[in-house]
Amino acid sequence: MDLSWRNLLDAYSCTECGRCSASCPANETGKLLSPRKIMMSTRDRLEEVGRNINANGEFKDDGKSLLHNYISVEELRACTTCNACVEACPVSISPVEIILEMRRSLIMEESSAPQEWNSMFSNVENNFAPWKFAPDDRDKWVSEIN
Ligand code: SF4
Ligand code: SF4
Repeated sequence: MDLSWRNLLDAYSCTECGRCSASCPANETGKLLSPRKIMMSTRDRLEEVGRNINANGEFKDDGKSLLHNYISVEELRACTTCNACVEACPVSISPVEIILEMRRSLIMEESSAPQEWNSMFSNVENNFAPWKFAPDDRDKWVSEIN
C-alpha cells in the first residue's frame, strides 16, 4: 500500500521480457531472486487489491500483503543493489526500487534483519562507522606505523 504510483505503473508497464533477470547476478548464481518476478508479483497483488476495491467499494483487509505473501524475505535479501536490472530494462523500470522499499519496511516496521546487520547498525549509531572502534581511536594506526 505504501509503494509509489510510479512503482505501481512500472508493474503494469513490464513487458515480461526477462532482460532484468538475465542480467541479475543473484539470479544468474542460482539465488531465489528474479527482478522480473518482483514486477509480476507486484502487478498480481495490485490487481487483487483492485478487485477487492471493486467488490467492496473500498479496500477491505484481506490479511495479505505484497511482502511475505507474494515476495519473500529470501528474495529481498538476495539483491546486491547492483542496478543491472534497471540498466537492462528496455522500458526504464526499476525493480530494485520496490526491493529497497520492502527491505526498508522489513527493518523499520518489523525489526527484521540478520544479526550481522544489527551489529553494523549499532556500530554506526554508536561509533559513526560500521566497525567496533571508538571514533577517537580511528587514527591510531598512524602512530602505530610510525
Ligand atoms: S539490483 Fe538486485 S535485482 Fe537488480 S540486477 Fe542487481 S541484484 Fe538483481
Ligand atoms: S527488463 Fe523491464 S520490461 Fe523486461 S521483464 Fe524486466 S522489468 Fe519487465
